[in-house]
Amino acid sequence: METRDLIVIGGGPAGYTAALYAARANLEPLVIEGFQWGGQLMITSEVENYPGYADGVMGPQMMADFRRQAERFGAEFVTDDVTKVDFSERPFRVWVGDEEHRARTVIVATGASARQLGLDSELKLQGRGVTYCATCDGAFYRDREVVVVGGGDSAMEEALFLTRFASKVTLVHRRDEFRASQIMVDRAREHEKIEFLTPYVVEEVLGVAESKLAGLRLRNVETDEPLELETDGLFVAIGHDPNTGLFLDQLDHDENGYLVTSPRSTETNVPGVFAVGDVQDHVYRQAVTAAGSGCMGALDAERFLAAEEGHPHEALAAPREA
Ligand code: NAP
Repeated sequence: METRDLIVIGGGPAGYTAALYAARANLEPLVIEGFQWGGQLMITSEVENYPGYADGVMGPQMMADFRRQAERFGAEFVTDDVTKVDFSERPFRVWVGDEEHRARTVIVATGASARQLGLDSELKLQGRGVTYCATCDGAFYRDREVVVVGGGDSAMEEALFLTRFASKVTLVHRRDEFRASQIMVDRAREHEKIEFLTPYVVEEVLGVAESKLAGLRLRNVETDEPLELETDGLFVAIGHDPNTGLFLDQLDHDENGYLVTSPRSTETNVPGVFAVGDVQDHVYRQAVTAAGSGCMGALDAERFLAAEEGHPHEALAAPREA
């Protein structure tokens, strides 16, 4: 069975950038990109903050562009999900169902997923008023009224951020207590544009028939009273989960499941396995930081392979590309 230099697991900004750099370094990477390739950008609408796309770009288009660029230099793709990995010995082994792939190095770029409320109506209006990222989509809601759902630091941060654009931000949370730090709750409470609505859950997202968000049907958790709220935007901010289920027994991770990498590097605890993008970063979580991290992973893998082949000095002196 063929042993490749590199397998990249994951097809978002981090994985495709890793593949681009690796392909240009002649590592002939295989990208197992996932059945639903593209990652979180596939459920955002327009991306206006990715440098180089001066006029903005739709998230799915941007991911197709990333993919095509990696393909141009010889990256190969498997559009399916990895089902099992074995990093206990080398070559590393990665399975897609019964199909086994082997490689000297692996870059894990499986990202994180925004938690969803779990409503059918929410799914139908994703990118049409239902969003998971204020940094990405906030600017589309200038002078509009929006709702943020959640009670953690992310929800407070998103609500505060959205006050820059929206005329009113309603923060809906299912309890009267907040998981967020007190200082963030106080800041949000003190803001004149933010109104708190607790303890409420979202029962239905309204507007499916018009394909555009019209409002929300809420329910008071204590009294069971329903409440309809008109809104232009729903920002779901109930946390993210890293997509690390396959790796938890093999790679070091923190208590939330994010993979741990060495400081200023993409190395995991297994030499030759690297982690890039949101799967190891719960702080920045931007396409551009994920892409930067993917580039770092490819350079780390390239140097690791070169060092192993007995050219440590050459490896360290490898030219850094722009
Ligand atoms: P989080 O702390 O896990 O909070 C998630 C919130 O969403 C909780 O209030 C939770 O309610 C609510 N929630 C979860 N599932 C829900 C559902 N199905 N329906 C309705 N509500 C639901 O997540 P996070 O806010 O993203 O923060 C993650 C970590 O990053 C935290 O450690 C946080 O401190 C950190 N962070 C820090 C900053 C900052 O310091 N500036 C900013 C962002 C994030 P319950 O409380 O009822 O469970």
